[in-house]
Amino acid sequence: MSTSSQPLALSAGTPHNRSLSAQILDVTGLDPARCYQCGKCSAGCPMASEMDLKTHEIIRLLQLDMRERLLASESIWMCLTCETCTTRCPNVFDPAAVIDALREIVLRENPGLVPRRISAFHSAFLDQIRANGRVFEFGLVASYKLRSGALFADVDSVPGMLARGKLALAPRRIEAIQDIRRIFEQCAMERPR
Ligand code: SF4
Ligand code: SF4
Repeated sequence: MSTSSQPLALSAGTPHNRSLSAQILDVTGLDPARCYQCGKCSAGCPMASEMDLKTHEIIRLLQLDMRERLLASESIWMCLTCETCTTRCPNVFDPAAVIDALREIVLRENPGLVPRRISAFHSAFLDQIRANGRVFEFGLVASYKLRSGALFADVDSVPGMLARGKLALAPRRIEAIQDIRRIFEQCAMERPR
């Protein structure tokens, strides 16, 4: 694991008919070549200690079009989208938006690369929003467990959560659910190419 804020020294990129940087530019309007690798984004990232690639290293891999190494990293899935990196960047770049776009590209082009537990949570969360317009925690947990295979993880916390009213047993759908579903339909039409 690299802990340096210096640029990565990497070999040539994997051949691909379209560079990942070009895809990111299309989706976000951000050109990764603009990043000058100062490392301020990584220095403030609350997830840096958990990431095998730090924020500035993700952007460096983009610059070098190291597609396979970048998309196989779990780092892009550990990002909290807190936007600390974006706020700290002295270059008015937006690493958080780039990482979000990378996740969308992986989901579209190679969903098998998504770690199972993360894919399970992502799908379970979106299913809840699509169905109810808000998170129904009990449904979210049940769906996540079925999808991830972690059926018995944390089950001992359920009685306490039920007793404290933290887990409603039935969902409450928002009134504007049709608006939410239109947003999902619109997003499906505008997924990254
Ligand atoms: S803070 Fe901005 S310019 Fe500096 S490495 Fe991060 S993205 Fe690049
Ligand atoms: S948005 Fe992601 S990469 Fe940026 S600081 Fe937050 S966790 Fe780190």
